[in-house]
Parts: sequence; C-alpha cells; structure tokens
Amino acid sequence: MKVVFDHLTKIFPNRTKGKEDVIAVNDFCFEIPDGKLIGLLGPSGCGKSTALNLICGLEEATRGKIYFGDEDVTNLPPENRGVGMVFQNYALYPHLTVKQNIMFPLENLKGEEKMSREAMEAKALEAAKLVQIEDYMERKPSQLSGGQQQRVAIARALVKIPKVLLLDEPLSNLDARLRLQTREEIRRIQKETKITTVFVTHDQEEAMSISDIIVLMKLGVVQQIGKPQEVYDDPINLFVAKFLGTPAINVFNGRIEKHKVYIGADCIGDSKLSDREVYIGIRPEGMVVDKKGVLTCKFDRREVMGRDHSVVCHNKECISDIDIRAIIPSDTEVDANAKTITFSLKPMKVYLFDKESEERLR
Ligand code: ADP
Ligand code: MG
Repeated sequence: MKVVFDHLTKIFPNRTKGKEDVIAVNDFCFEIPDGKLIGLLGPSGCGKSTALNLICGLEEATRGKIYFGDEDVTNLPPENRGVGMVFQNYALYPHLTVKQNIMFPLENLKGEEKMSREAMEAKALEAAKLVQIEDYMERKPSQLSGGQQQRVAIARALVKIPKVLLLDEPLSNLDARLRLQTREEIRRIQKETKITTVFVTHDQEEAMSISDIIVLMKLGVVQQIGKPQEVYDDPINLFVAKFLGTPAINVFNGRIEKHKVYIGADCIGDSKLSDREVYIGIRPEGMVVDKKGVLTCKFDRREVMGRDHSVVCHNKECISDIDIRAIIPSDTEVDANAKTITFSLKPMKVYLFDKESEERLR
C-alpha cells in the first residue's frame, strides 16, 4: 500500500502567552512507495512521532491530506485505517500472556471480520513465528527480555496484516547488541511480508542501515529524501551533511578567491564559483594522509577503532563541535611525534555550502 502526503501539516497551538505555535509537521508532500521501508529520521523534537501519529490517526491534521493508495484516510478513525503500530516502550498488557497480547487486536473485530478462537490462535501463532517468539506463548511480558518484549509488540502489530506498519523508535530501550539484532529482524520481517513500513529513529546509522529510503527532517520540515547512500554522498545542505555519518563530517570556514578554494592559507582546490565566504565540509574518509597534501592540520593523536584508525587533529578554521577526524587504514604510517600532518582530499568527499543559507553550492 503506498502512502501519499499532500501538503500535510500539523500545528500545535501555543498554550503559553507570548510563545509561538509549534509547526510539528510542515507541508509534507511526498509518496512512500508500496512495500518499502522508509526511515523517518531527524533530531529529537523534529516532528517524527507527530508524522507517525498523523499516519495512524492518533493526531488530526491541521491542513493537507493523507492517502493510503487512492483512498483519502485523512478523517478516518485509527481503528479503520488498518495500521499496525509499535512504540519505544512496547506497551504490552502486563497481565496478559504473550499469546493473549498478540491476539488482542483480533478479539475486537466485529461483524463479518469476527473470528473464532481457533482462527485467532492460529493467526497469533503465525505472527509469533514470524518474529520467532513462538516458544514463549504462555509467558507474561515481565518474564521476557526487552528484545523479546519488543518482538511480541511487533507480532501484535502484524497479526491483523496491516496495510502500513509504523514503528516509533522501537529499538531505543534495547542494549547495543540487541538493537543491532532486532533491527536486522525488522528488516527481514519487512522483506518477508512486504508491508509498507515507516521506521522512526533519531539514529542516523540505524536509519541508513535498514531503510530503502530515508526522509531526513528538521523542525517539521523535510530536508532531503532518497536512498541512504545517495543522501550521504549528495547532501543538499549543511544540516544533512552533518547529520549523516560517523565520525561526523569535518566543517571548516573557507573562502573562494579567484576560483581557488581556501581553508586559511591552504589552497585545497578549484571552483567555478565567484569570490565568497563558504563553509567547507570534508568527510573523514576523504582526507588522505599525504606528505604532498594540500591541507595542513595540527596533529593530536591516533585513535584505534579496530579495522580503521582515526587521525585526530586541529585546524583553527574548523568549526565542528568535535576535533577533526580523518579515517585511515590501520596500516598507514603516521609519525606519532609529528607536530603537523598534511592531507590530500578526495574531491567527491568535499562539499561547499553557502554561509547564509547553508545550502550546498555546486
Ligand atoms: P520527535 O518525535 O521527532 O521527537 P515530536 O513529533 O514528538 O518530535 O514533536 C514535534 C514538536 O511538536 C515538538 O516541538 C513538540 O514539543 C511538539 N509537540 C508534540 N506533541 C505536542 C502536543 N500534544 N502539544 C503541543 N506540542 C506538541
Ligand atoms: Mg518521537
């Protein structure tokens, strides 16, 4: 089922005098293709949960429309939309067993949809198998680990075969290893069921690793939509460039003079653009330790990250919150006593941004 947003907007009116209204979702206009997994990504407070709540009907749109396929569902109550929802805190019923929890959405079906107990149990078992929790059907949620509880919540969301599956930061309460494992599970289940899925997270790595398409938001406004690698490789503004990637992109004050690009006194390349001040973003993997390099930094230390290492260094034009990082293969030789270090730069990994608008300059 494809999901279409048509100028969808949600405004929360201010409750405190003198404070402005919050535009939590601002003029969403895009389409989620049928059967895809969308990663809705952005910092805390950017409107991800509100967007999800608009899709499932827990929030009413201020303006605009939502379509499932060709059907306008904007004013449909949540129970008639056929969505499955999974929350960060699992929200299982503590007094019910796993089986009863999973069956719960089926118990309330009315009229023609009403199911026999046997049919409901069969459906519950099917959903439980999908998330590999079928051995725990008689347990209570308190007798399960966090990861297992989240599987039950996913099974419960899947049991009615939803048109759209919505997951709101579903992995946040899990430890690192379980988070990795469960996200792979979610990807597998989504591929098996081909249910259109919206996965909300503030974790860029999580979104990049499991999404067909990521939608990156800031303050209620969609910044960029695309395949994870495409957005990473081709950010449209400084916010997007900074949000994606670990270690984060290195950002410098720079300028263009007579078609040469400068960071401080270092000329790092050519540009067709006219003279101006710019921000220059350089991905950590785009800086190559090279004695004949173009960018000179103060060497600080080498950090071991396993397969790769980081060279940590400083430059007075750097405006990133953290030190400059260059990723180098672990067998690269770097003089540990060096005062300075020079890098050549991979042109595809260097981006220029307008100082005012922070839009990408090409
Ligand atoms: P996210 O899920 O990305 O962290 P939310 O969608 O929860 O963000 O919130 C987006 C913005 O809307 C925030 O500024 C938040 O304070 C505001 N907001 C969310 N829900 C309400 C509400 N019920 N009333 C007023 N403001 C709200
Ligand atoms: Mg949220």
